[in-house]
Amino acid sequence: MTEFDENDSFRDRVSTIAEDGKRVWVYPKRPSGRLFKYRNLVAYLLLVIFFITPFIKVAGEPLMLFNFLERRFILFGVVFFPQDFHIFVLSMIAFIVFVVLFTVVFGRLFCGWICPQTIFMEFVFRQIEYLIEGNNSQQRKLDSRSLDFDKIWRKSLKHLIFYLISLVTVYFFLAYVFGMDRVIQLIKEGPSANLAGFFGMLIFAAVHYLVFAKLREQVCIIVCPYGRLQGVLLDRNSINVTYDYKRGEPRGKHNPLEDRDKAGKGDCIDCNSCVLVCPTGIDIRNGTQLECINCTACIDACDNIMDRVKKPRGLIRYASERSIADGTHLSFNVRILFYSVVLSGLLILIGYLFSIRTDIESTILRMPGSMYQEYDSLHYSNIYTIQLINKTRRDLPVELEIENAEGEIKMMGGPLVVPKGDVGKATFLLVIEKSQLKSSVTPIEFRVLSEGREMAEIEATFVGPNSLDPGK
Ligand code: SF4
Ligand code: SF4
Repeated sequence: MTEFDENDSFRDRVSTIAEDGKRVWVYPKRPSGRLFKYRNLVAYLLLVIFFITPFIKVAGEPLMLFNFLERRFILFGVVFFPQDFHIFVLSMIAFIVFVVLFTVVFGRLFCGWICPQTIFMEFVFRQIEYLIEGNNSQQRKLDSRSLDFDKIWRKSLKHLIFYLISLVTVYFFLAYVFGMDRVIQLIKEGPSANLAGFFGMLIFAAVHYLVFAKLREQVCIIVCPYGRLQGVLLDRNSINVTYDYKRGEPRGKHNPLEDRDKAGKGDCIDCNSCVLVCPTGIDIRNGTQLECINCTACIDACDNIMDRVKKPRGLIRYASERSIADGTHLSFNVRILFYSVVLSGLLILIGYLFSIRTDIESTILRMPGSMYQEYDSLHYSNIYTIQLINKTRRDLPVELEIENAEGEIKMMGGPLVVPKGDVGKATFLLVIEKSQLKSSVTPIEFRVLSEGREMAEIEATFVGPNSLDPGK
């Protein structure tokens, strides 16, 4: 708690819920300023990346794919199979630890600059709203007015565009799950070919639309687990959008003829500009709050005011509570050290697992329940199945060799070629001269080759009659 708080009522309830429990609709003023320009650049760059990525292919496969249903994942062109799931899970854990570490140091920077909810809300839907319904005070007036033609067409057009954008976005999300080719195929086939899927898309689009047309900042305040975790992640050292109460208080209205220092006033002229632009409807001067998504709109608003009253910028700025309170800067504390060590450990482990990850994964097993066969008067044979996962992006012809014995491999059904990103199975006979076998169980080492290159070595056993065992 900051030392100037006189009215702590903001701590008793969420800013967007009135005392009677009703929603307080937020009409934020359109931000403008240095940081907003940068945020615009970042947001539109991320939107372009989001909408372009599903079209990018590497060797015929999508650059990114998160097919949870078929357990197929592609991250930056690297295909992950169920057998690689441990690497995928470790990567996700490392990402979470990174987010935690990042939050401990830099607060909710992610929410304001990168979070899809903020980007779509502030840089897509809110901008369309400003275009159709006007600025924040025009929107407020429009909402309080009874229905007339002007209100009907503005509201209808806005919600129609919101829904269409939601529908398009949901199709792109689907492209990240099933790939753009399948999505294009679905669209070409039309709704009648897949009625259930089509209605599913309409429902998902409706949910997406409701999030941005109605729920808005409530997602950040109530629904988002990352937002809810801020209370445990942030501490006095975390850098957040913060009001410098030491410099700003005691606040008081601006009077150009008055010397504020002599009058004992701080730099805050109590103009409310920082509150008017806030998309979550809070007053940052009350200190760090759960609702703040670090969007920096209040920084820009206050900087504009400081320019006008000829005071230095940065009354609201990125700073830690500690640096404001006692002027100290971020120190490397135990928490940061702990998360850094865990993250480094995870990254080293993932790097190691990647380095030993092979292009193919294969198993060779003797056919269940099978014993040796008398192939001819001079040979015994065993029957095996081979299963191969081809993690590469090209079809792999596969050959087998025996490493530690003389024998002949007879593939059934012709040579084995495993399609890219697929699983191949085959059955084969291993024929070995009777004279080579010294016991009923002989260890065999298979070499799996593709185009002359060794891909794997697999150990198995060859069984013969018990009579081969010494003493029988
Ligand atoms: S307090 Fe400032 S940074 Fe936080 S949400 Fe409001 S405008 Fe954005
Ligand atoms: S914009 Fe700056 S000067 Fe105006 S009320 Fe907010 S903190 Fe005070």
